[in-house]
Amino acid sequence: MNVRQRIEHGIGPGLGGLGTQWIIAIGFTLVLVLMAMLTGLGLSHMATIKARMVNLVTESNVKTESVFQMRSVSRERFASLGQMVVLRDPFERDEEYMRFQAQASEFIRARDRLLGLGMGPEEQATWTRARQLIQRDEQLHAQVIELAMAGRSETALDLLLRDVRPLENSLLDVFNEMVEQYRRTNQQSLRESEADYREAAAYMIGLALLALVMGLAIAWVVILRSRHAESELSRQSEAAIAAAEQLSWAAGHDSLTGLSNRRETQRHLSLLVQDTQAHGMRHVLLYIDLDKFKAVNDSCGHLAGDELLRQLANIFTRHVRSGDLAARLGGDEFCIGLANCDMGKARQIAEAIRDDVAQYRFCWEDRVFQVGASVGLVQLEPTMDVPAVLRAADAACYQAKERGRNQVCVHGER
Ligand code: GH3
Ligand code: MG
Repeated sequence: MNVRQRIEHGIGPGLGGLGTQWIIAIGFTLVLVLMAMLTGLGLSHMATIKARMVNLVTESNVKTESVFQMRSVSRERFASLGQMVVLRDPFERDEEYMRFQAQASEFIRARDRLLGLGMGPEEQATWTRARQLIQRDEQLHAQVIELAMAGRSETALDLLLRDVRPLENSLLDVFNEMVEQYRRTNQQSLRESEADYREAAAYMIGLALLALVMGLAIAWVVILRSRHAESELSRQSEAAIAAAEQLSWAAGHDSLTGLSNRRETQRHLSLLVQDTQAHGMRHVLLYIDLDKFKAVNDSCGHLAGDELLRQLANIFTRHVRSGDLAARLGGDEFCIGLANCDMGKARQIAEAIRDDVAQYRFCWEDRVFQVGASVGLVQLEPTMDVPAVLRAADAACYQAKERGRNQVCVHGER
C-alpha cells in the first residue's frame, strides 16, 4: 500500500497500525464522554448542594422560628396567668382568661408546624423533655386558673411563683437548647455543603485536566502522523521526479557511453536542418566508424569492447562544445554535430579526433590495442533533410574506409 492509499485509509505508523481517523474518532469520543461526565458530576453535586441549602433555609429556619414562637407564647401566657391572679375584677379576669386561651391555640399552631417537619433522634429527645414540661405546666396552669377564678389569689400567686415559674424557666431553657441544636445543624449543613463543593470542584478540575491532556495527545498524534505522511509524500514525489528524469534521459541517451542516441541525434539534426533552411546557418556533421574495433571484441570479449567504446566516447566529448551533438548511433558508429561551424574548422576538429584515436592505446589485461577512426564530414545544405544528411555523412565515412581507414573525408570532395 503506497503513502496515498495509507493516507486515504487513515493508516499511519505505530500504535498497532491504528488509523489516524480511528485515533481521532476514539480520542474525541473519550473527550466527549469525559465532558459529559464532567457536566453530570457538576450538576449532581450542585443539586446536592442546592438541596442542602433549601433544607437549611426552609426546614431549619422554620423550625427555629416555631421554637422561638412557642418560647415567646409561653412567656406571654405566664404573664397572662400572673394578670389573672392579681386582677380583682371578674370581668377583667375573664377577659385575661380569653387572651390566655387564644395564646394556647397560637402555641399549638407553632408546635404542629414544628412536628410537621419531622425530627432527628437528638431533636426528638429534647422535644420529649419539652413535651413533658409542657404537660406538667398545663396541669399547674389549670390549678392556678381554678384558684384565681375561685378568688383564692394568694394561694394561686404562691403556686405560680413557687411551682410554675421554675417549670416555665426550665421549659424556656429546653426551647433555647432546641434553638442551639438548629444553629448547630445549620453550621453542619454549611460545612457539608462546602465539603461537597470542594469535592465536586476537585473532580471537575481532574476530569477537565484529563480531557485537556487527551485533546493535546490526540492533536500531537495527528500532527506527528500528518508530518510523517507529508515527508513520505515529498520523498515519493522526489523519487518519482528523479525516475521521470531518468526515463526521459534514457529515452535520448546511449546507456553504455552516456552520449546521445540515434533518436536524440535525429531530433538534434532536424533542428540544425531547420536552422540551415530558415537562416542559412552553417553546420557540419561528423560520422565516425572505428577501424578494426571487432578485433578487441574477438580477442578480449565484449566487456573489453564496451570499455573501449566508453573511453573513446570521452575523447570525442573533449572535442565538442556544450551545445554540440555527441552521439553513438550503434555498434562502433558515432557522430558529432558542430553547430555554426565552417568546413575548415570542422575538418581541423575531425583530424584532431582521428589523431587522438590513432594515438590512443587501449590496455586490457596484458594486451594493448590500437584502433583508428574513419571520419566522414558533411556540410548541411538547405536542400537536405535529416536522412539525407545521415546518408551523406555515412557515404563520406565509407569513402574514408575505402581509402584505407584512419582518414577524414568530406562529402562531395574527390
Ligand atoms: P571496420 O574496420 O571495417 O569498421 O571493422 P570493425 O572491426 O570496426 O567492425 P565493424 O565496424 O564492421 O563492426 C562493428 C562491430 O562492433 C560489430 C559488433 O560485433 C561490434 N559491436 C556492436 N555493438 C557493440 C557493443 O555494444 N559492444 C561491443 N563490445 N561490440 C559491439
Ligand atoms: Mg568499424
